[in-house]
Amino acid sequence: MMVAELKQQVLMQKASSTRTMKRISNSFHGTSVGFVPTMGYLHEGHMSLVKQSLSTCDHTVVSIFVNPIQFGANEDLDVYPHDLEGDIEKLESAGVDVLFQPHRETIYPKGFKTYVQVDEITDQLCGTSRPGLFKGVATVVLKLFNIVRPQHVFFGEKDWQQLAVIETMVRDLNLDISVHRVPLVREPDGLAMSSRNLNLSAEDRQKALSLSRSLEDAKEKIRQGTTAASQLKQSMKDRITAESGMQIDYISICDPISLQEIEEVKGRTLIALAVKIGSSRLIDNCIVKD
Ligand code: AMP
Repeated sequence: MMVAELKQQVLMQKASSTRTMKRISNSFHGTSVGFVPTMGYLHEGHMSLVKQSLSTCDHTVVSIFVNPIQFGANEDLDVYPHDLEGDIEKLESAGVDVLFQPHRETIYPKGFKTYVQVDEITDQLCGTSRPGLFKGVATVVLKLFNIVRPQHVFFGEKDWQQLAVIETMVRDLNLDISVHRVPLVREPDGLAMSSRNLNLSAEDRQKALSLSRSLEDAKEKIRQGTTAASQLKQSMKDRITAESGMQIDYISICDPISLQEIEEVKGRTLIALAVKIGSSRLIDNCIVKD
């Protein structure tokens, strides 16, 4: 029997307390541990991170934790989708070793006072409209790293800015962790996979296709010679707002590392956007190569 087959027959361990998770981490001493932090309601995008961890590391830990401190007052914390049973089934059949699913009080006990702030790259894109987002993300991710103690962590390029924040934190705080970037996974019609897509009505789901299509249009225009960021942004905006009820949060054409806006597309460039459709805020991005 293949090692992978044998592995799938071993029951996934579950931990909800820090103590249990640390005990399991200790038992993995001397092996390579891969970690995939998520907020649950798992889809193929999440599972591509999981698969990469499974093929890279001896053990894979996945966390499900909807982190309250990264949500603003009027955001969708209370309606964030969840399906724990479905998630467990997916993780178990993939061969994941451990699910860490801590309670809120476990991560933020009474009297919690310490936060991680990554400067500058958090000032653009999503950081502008969601001011506490990356402080919340960096704080919870560092806490999860300290509890799980992985050597490898896997994050999706769907959340490009988040990846930049994690990479910066890992570098600046001298963490002995390799951050693996995993490409964005889309639905067959181009919509970027997201747990939040669940909250879209059928009509809004259709309108949401204008996000990925506007990115494709911009890429095509660049291929045909357009370089002015303002012109590209305007045509993306026109494409998206051709649908009713679309509220553009930002369209950014920027350097993929510093996330600073650029005026002319010359080398490798990130095009990123966030749009509110009904009560859902969706993000998407693409890279334009040299
Ligand atoms: P979330 O549960 O939305 O916090 O996402 C957990 C991880 O999955 C993050 O590293 C995300 O970037 C990644 N992820 C979410 N959606 C996708 C997707 N469509 N493609 C690739 N990675 C994704």
